[in-house]
Amino acid sequence: MKIETKAVHAGDRKRDPERPGAFIPVTTPIYTAASYVYESTEKLDRVLGQEEAGYCYGRYDNPTLAALEDLVTELEGGHASLACASGMLAVQTALLTALTDRPKRVVAANALYGATLSMLTKILEPLGVEVQFVDICDAAAVEQRIADVKPGCVIMETISNPLLRVGAIDRVARMCRHANAALIVDNTFATPLLVRPLELGANLVVHSVTKFLAGHGDVLGGVLTADADHAQVMRAINRTSGVGMGPFEAYLTMRGIKTFVLRMERQCANACRIASWLGGHEGISRVHYPADPAHPDAEIIARLLPRGLYGAIVTFDLKDAGKQDIFRFMDRLKLIVKGTSLGDVHSLLLYPAIASHRDIAPKQRERMGISDGTVRLCAGIEAVDDLIADLQQALD
Ligand code: PLP
Repeated sequence: MKIETKAVHAGDRKRDPERPGAFIPVTTPIYTAASYVYESTEKLDRVLGQEEAGYCYGRYDNPTLAALEDLVTELEGGHASLACASGMLAVQTALLTALTDRPKRVVAANALYGATLSMLTKILEPLGVEVQFVDICDAAAVEQRIADVKPGCVIMETISNPLLRVGAIDRVARMCRHANAALIVDNTFATPLLVRPLELGANLVVHSVTKFLAGHGDVLGGVLTADADHAQVMRAINRTSGVGMGPFEAYLTMRGIKTFVLRMERQCANACRIASWLGGHEGISRVHYPADPAHPDAEIIARLLPRGLYGAIVTFDLKDAGKQDIFRFMDRLKLIVKGTSLGDVHSLLLYPAIASHRDIAPKQRERMGISDGTVRLCAGIEAVDDLIADLQQALD
């Protein structure tokens, strides 16, 4: 079945074998119950003991979350998923799942979302986990780092935030398999429409569903999808810590996912037009966009991304701009929303130095290639000519 069809149907309209003939809601309702009862205590005992499938306590699982989890499992081609209260909780649970029975050592891509970098260096390192960074797009360097560190897991993003670097997930997955390390991929920027990391050999896939999957700027949440080897540990971690999102957010996320393919196609097309327009603007010194034939990872992009779908994000540098120039440019935007997110139906522009990468020391930010003149635009579904007109008047 194609992804457009799965997005609309998967997870919903499950039949209850114990209630044949009962009505079936076309969309999964919002279940708010904290606990569940059965007519027979013997059955409750079996459900509590995990000898029989069923719901007993909201921290363990919930029918609305289960529908969303089944949907994302289908989209990502995984074994099981866990809907989490935030994308960062999905990242954290992925790291705990990967490291539970492996050496407490992580090899991390040096281009990662700022909070993921902070989680590695400010939470895991002080807890005694060794963290080593590597340029994930340099296969030889990754191989060497894995051989030196012998990590329990490797963590990378499909398309990195904000500079849009694309690592060879399939090659890194092969290296991880040989080293008995788990590969965690944050697929937030790509979505399963562009790349399905589990099919390329990754073990755990993370989404901030706050972004493209929910898509309307009204949900904070994450989903972690695991392969068969990691599903049980992932659920066991949740059983003790309760990382689940609320049922209302799960409902909104499912509702959003039904249209995510349509939105994503439009957003990718808009971003592509904007990137080429920015490339010809004299006030712009650098444009990062995966469709660019001169992109440093062009070979990997040609192999892993579908033609015409290069993501909805364009990152660019205003020529000779400092913080005040960027503030002035942002204040002049009339249509594009200056919000600290991405993936919504409306276009969003973010200044990494004060938002996603605020907690990274300025020198390290510069080393990562994020200057004081770098901004990140996520194209929405608006008419692209209106977006270009807004950028034009703000840059003039
Ligand atoms: N991963 C990536 C790539 C992100 O961009 C973000 C947030 O911007 C997250 C994870 C964290 O998601 P959340 O804000 O839903 O916790």
